[in-house]
Amino acid sequence: MKITILGSGDAFGSGGRFNTCLHVEAGADRMLLDCGSSSMVALNRAEIARNRLSTLLFTHFHGDHFGALPAFLLDAQFVSRRKEPLTIAGPAGIEQRTLHALETDFSGASSNPWRFPISFVEVTPEQPATVAGFAVTAFAMVHDERAGPCQGYRLARDGKIFAFSGDTAWSESLIPLADGADLLLVECYNFDKPLVNHLDYLTLRARRADLRTPRIVLTHMGPGMLAHQAALPEERAHDGMVLEP
Ligand SMILES: [Zn+2]
Ligand SMILES: [Zn+2]
Repeated sequence: MKITILGSGDAFGSGGRFNTCLHVEAGADRMLLDCGSSSMVALNRAEIARNRLSTLLFTHFHGDHFGALPAFLLDAQFVSRRKEPLTIAGPAGIEQRTLHALETDFSGASSNPWRFPISFVEVTPEQPATVAGFAVTAFAMVHDERAGPCQGYRLARDGKIFAFSGDTAWSESLIPLADGADLLLVECYNFDKPLVNHLDYLTLRARRADLRTPRIVLTHMGPGMLAHQAALPEERAHDGMVLEP
């Protein structure tokens, strides 16, 4: 399993980083995990062949994770001229959210006669599913239910486990999410100020022993974290970073 971080940023592009977008591949399978607003730029810059992606899997419906989906679909229709089936997977409500986002961004686009089959898959917390050839388990996170359900995911493939928190405050669900994973990519928006919807570094450090994984990489860093990060021992994500759990 190989994960390329196309976007490691927060919602605001702090530090010049792209919004959340992970390219996940194993064997012939390729998918995106989140596709935030700036992701079409990130995909083009990284020269990702969009038609080879079978699936887009989303953690929640904030713009910095979900916002490029309408442009991705119109690109598939008019630029990449996709013929391959596309699966759009995510929390409950994924189909309605997609149609609403299409209509908001490009009026009339929700009734497009698509040139490729689209299927929607709802991934329910703690109910194992197979997505793009990966064994996926979702865990409910604590973030913003107006943009949810908000979910973190464990992806298992070829004996390796990759875990991704999506956006969340500290949640006891992080413990089973990380348990036995080879690598946890975890959001860390703030440095020292706990928030109701995001993690901060001091909380994460205090709870590190509860996260039973040998490797943690911090992502989604806001201005406070970016200012402190150089002095920290933990690995931090950056755009273009490649992870091989
Ligand atoms: Zn976010
Ligand atoms: Zn969010």
